[in-house]
Amino acid sequence: MTDLSLLGWTPERAGELPPDCVPGRVARVDRGRLTVLTADGELRAHPGTALLGDTGAAVGDWVALRGELAVAVLPRRTAFTRVTAGRTSAAQVVAANLDAVLVVDALAGPQRLRRVERYLAVAWGSGATPVVVLTKADLCDDVPAAVQEVAESALGVDVLPVSSVSGAGVAEVAARIGPGRTAAMVGPSGVGKSSLANALLGAELIATSAIRESDGRGRHTTTARELHLLPGGGLLVDTPGMRELGLVDDEGIDTTYADVTELAQQCRFRDCGHRSEPGCAVAAAIAEGRLDPARYAAWRKLQAEARRQALRSDARARAAEHARVRALYRAYRAQPNRMR
Ligand code: GDP
Ligand code: ZN
Repeated sequence: MTDLSLLGWTPERAGELPPDCVPGRVARVDRGRLTVLTADGELRAHPGTALLGDTGAAVGDWVALRGELAVAVLPRRTAFTRVTAGRTSAAQVVAANLDAVLVVDALAGPQRLRRVERYLAVAWGSGATPVVVLTKADLCDDVPAAVQEVAESALGVDVLPVSSVSGAGVAEVAARIGPGRTAAMVGPSGVGKSSLANALLGAELIATSAIRESDGRGRHTTTARELHLLPGGGLLVDTPGMRELGLVDDEGIDTTYADVTELAQQCRFRDCGHRSEPGCAVAAAIAEGRLDPARYAAWRKLQAEARRQALRSDARARAAEHARVRALYRAYRAQPNRMR
């Protein structure tokens, strides 16, 4: 028997479970099949009709199981979403019920501040708490200075240096996840996410980029699961969907750039474009060296992107709605005895 609390189960969830059901945590989603972790171990479950299509389960979801049938997805506390390529659904849940999102970047390599901000905006948008993890500390000459620089732009977020090679800092990252808590990693390719995952797991469960390239499939080597139990407690989601950058939403941007957001509210005009308007608090802060112009530019760029994404998903939702109405109308006209 596994103690369900180690899988992230919390007592108040008991009231959400339909009668005669046991809870299971989704560790992998394949076509029409779920790999689920339960108190009695791992099992393969079939999604019931309530779980088909857009209402389907994601990795990290709690499902209600009746035998091998998953009859319901329990309410999500947080959801990490991304835009899908498909026609109908605007956003797809990649991972559910995350407590923490590790925003991973490397201490070796090019300028990282804007990249971290971007991933932070996505992470905040999921509802989980972001933590910045800076890998490859063994390749950096001045770790405290580099951490400090990132901490200054990652407002209200802890920044942890780590080396998967020496193992330094791995325990501190593991402590942020902790028993019963669930974390996932986001960050650009090559920064060391898979290496960190393996260091956290104490085993080579996840193929690093070198292996991914050599087997050409970009798949995990030895395990089918995408939800892993850490030796010291805690769970780590590693789903390929998280590797692509998720949805940016306005709230995530506002939280990430809380300083800029607050300045913008002090501009004289409500619709200030922060260019050359009189009484612009943002322009004043830049002129006085209180705001990095690059940070301001990144904020603008991300806002524009969020707007484009919203328009795109709106257009998709509208198109789907039109198709539905047209189909209803055709069905109605096809009725032989319809009212005239
Ligand atoms: P991912 O694409 O983010 O999953 O990155 P990988 O884990 O595949 O790592 C990319 C490369 O960086 C590999 O060659 C790793 O060996 C290397 N690497 C990862 N972490 C570290 C680290 O902490 N220190 C050093 N020196 N190299 C690392
Ligand atoms: Zn302004």
